Amino acid sequence: MMDPRWMLALWIVTDPTSRSTANVLTPPSQPLRPMLSRYEQAEPRMGTLFRVTLYAVDETSASKGTSAAFDRITQLNQIMSDYLDDSELNRFCRKSPNTPFALSDDLFEILWESQRLAKETEGAFDVTIGPAVRQWRRARRLKQMPTAEQIEEARRRTGHRFLALDRARRAGTLSRKGIQLDLGAIAKGYACDAALDALKRAGIPSALVDGGGGVSVGDPPPGARGWRVTVPPPPFDSSAPAVSLELVHQAVATSGDREQFFEWQGRRYSHIIDPRTAVGLTRRVQATVLAQKGMIADALATALCVMEVDKGLALIERTDGAAAKICFLDKDRPVSRESSRWRRFTR
Ligand code: AMP
Ligand code: MG
Repeated sequence: MMDPRWMLALWIVTDPTSRSTANVLTPPSQPLRPMLSRYEQAEPRMGTLFRVTLYAVDETSASKGTSAAFDRITQLNQIMSDYLDDSELNRFCRKSPNTPFALSDDLFEILWESQRLAKETEGAFDVTIGPAVRQWRRARRLKQMPTAEQIEEARRRTGHRFLALDRARRAGTLSRKGIQLDLGAIAKGYACDAALDALKRAGIPSALVDGGGGVSVGDPPPGARGWRVTVPPPPFDSSAPAVSLELVHQAVATSGDREQFFEWQGRRYSHIIDPRTAVGLTRRVQATVLAQKGMIADALATALCVMEVDKGLALIERTDGAAAKICFLDKDRPVSRESSRWRRFTR
């Protein structure tokens, strides 16, 4: 019997090139390709629901690929989580200031990219935002805004300049006490890419990995030009239509305050924090970024919520293969802006 965790799609997708009218006496002009079926599995990871959708020849192969993908995400969570006391990330943060710490390849690569993006976004994206994130979580739990002194203290402990990376030694150094790194804006995108790589290594190149706020896709489904991915309208403009994108070897991520915010004295504070103030954003904004890698789409979607709209779109224009749509409220009126490449991918 089929494993109940599997949801075999209602349709069996065949390669259109094998749908030949030839009878048994005339061999097909092209070699027959194996019939692929669609499989889907969702599991909680990294505080969200990850979903793997793939095309495979049979359940055994699908199961092998899915296990490899979810195992890889588990491994990355143990490295990058700021909730697990013993994660590599937290062990690095506890290291005495100015003492190099040997980093795993995964943590080194994501921190290296984070530092590059911190410079590209002029500090809007900053993985040293941890103290302010913890303060925001506490404020939401206690329904109490931190004091001005507490906010100032978190702001002083934030700054990508406090993190140095040595590529030759694969080491990281924190130059200040009390730095807390937080990869919440980039790790899920990295995990989607890594899960896709794991699937490919397991012989499954046609797959999509959904990490909650974003997806990474590999080869298209059999017979299709790409994967259809829907971007929901922003919560503050429900009349706007959902956008359908068609993606191949790409990723897309959406950031905003759809679920994660807390209200204080009539104002809404997003979980996305402006590193210049160490306070959650109060302006209503949703940014969707399409990029060649999930890690980049994830980080830039968060950064675009913080950045001034024109600066954010200029950054997208100079990022290889990237496109973006930003929706925001301007004096209570919904406005949306797109980068020049955005329409290439909408269907
Ligand atoms: P996302 O859902 O990808 O937009 O990421 C939001 C999460 O990233 C938050 O919950 C924080 O953990 C973290 N974060 C918040 N503000 C920033 C920021 N300015 N730069 C980097 N990470 C941030
Ligand atoms: Mg993000």
